[in-house]
Amino acid sequence: MSISVIRGMRDIFGPEISHWHRAESIFRSVSDDFAYQEFRTPMLESTELFKRGVGEETDIVGKEMYTFEDRGGDSVTLRPELTAPIVRACIEHSLVRHNPSLRLWYYGPQFRYERPQKGRYRQFHQFGAECIGSANPEADVEIILLAYETLRRYGVSDIRLELNSLGNADVRRRYREALVEYLTSRQDELCQDSRRRIQTNPLRVLDSKDEADRSVVEGAPQLHDFFDESSSAHFTAVRTLLDVSGVPYVINPRLVRGLDYYNHTVFEFTTDALGTQNAVGGGGRYDGLFAQLGGGDVPAVGFSIGVERMILLWQAEHADQQPEQSARVYLVSVGDDARLPIQLIALRLRRAGIHAVTDVLRRSVKAQMKDANREGAAFTVMIGDEELAASTAVVKNMLTGEQVTVPQAEIETVVSFHE
Ligand code: AMP
Repeated sequence: MSISVIRGMRDIFGPEISHWHRAESIFRSVSDDFAYQEFRTPMLESTELFKRGVGEETDIVGKEMYTFEDRGGDSVTLRPELTAPIVRACIEHSLVRHNPSLRLWYYGPQFRYERPQKGRYRQFHQFGAECIGSANPEADVEIILLAYETLRRYGVSDIRLELNSLGNADVRRRYREALVEYLTSRQDELCQDSRRRIQTNPLRVLDSKDEADRSVVEGAPQLHDFFDESSSAHFTAVRTLLDVSGVPYVINPRLVRGLDYYNHTVFEFTTDALGTQNAVGGGGRYDGLFAQLGGGDVPAVGFSIGVERMILLWQAEHADQQPEQSARVYLVSVGDDARLPIQLIALRLRRAGIHAVTDVLRRSVKAQMKDANREGAAFTVMIGDEELAASTAVVKNMLTGEQVTVPQAEIETVVSFHE
């Protein structure tokens, strides 16, 4: 019986890989331009980290984690997100003490036991960044711009930036009380999940997709009516900075995001092109998380982008376009004597930074030419007995069909010149 890949997980191969390479190089270059440093944490963490850092009432911790006991009997979890691990690492290595303004980025697989469908997987990848140490709105905007610039450079445009503010901790506390009171008074009209959330995570009821819930939510108290001066000032400054940066956004007062730890700014990049999986990325400010994990009072703000969804969106927007492939040289052996010498020429070309392919199946010339086409080779370099004797090669431009005989020492020049 054959063994298949685990449900909700994907093999990434073939032409799709070039999308990933392009995405990964953009993650690196945008982060570099914003002076963010890459941070890599292990795939496994103590289960306690996510319970404390994400919140037991969230779907992620309550329903979706890959948690198991290791052989020593410790409960460990495959990371479902990367903010809590980064904060854990900053505390563990006293990084904030050494640098009061940390800028970090990350990229890698995450694991959530969700119901799989297009754009939603059990292993997926996120690119994200955290700006740690500043409570000021310019840090929020720097993070939003970094996310925005990543999507812009990758070339996706069917994207809307939705923005909201949850206010400071005091505002949230007062609002929560009022909301719980209101939702309790109308709990009979709510779906079962939302009724349970009244006590555990009432803000989540605001973004419920259930029809009946939505009409209850219509009449709910408005968070922004509870804002104090500092919460309003923070939100205004974020909007002003985004306005002058020329980044379009819409205010969505219902946007609360699933995670417990956000305050002030929250945002999401959404699209209409991916059906129900409409969130491509999101983030927000999480000033309380360091304290929650024993790291004192350290404000921070961050985002993450779902890489699978970003690629799917690019594919939806560029239906018949493949990312460009770099030109390859295919070395064709005409007869058997050239097979070994060709390997040496291929090595020389590769050392000169030229993609070179040879036939290792010892096929006929015709079959090699066919293979060169399949590889998308820009040039074939043909060598047979005659060329071996004269130390020459026949270089054919596969696009124009033009053919020249040149000394073997000049192959690099000819294929580079024509590129
Ligand atoms: P979150 O950490 O839930 O805010 O997710 C951030 C981004 O990761 C989302 O906007 C999605 O693009 C992506 N994402 C979250 N969960 C999944 C999943 N199960 N499969 C694929 N992408 C996901």
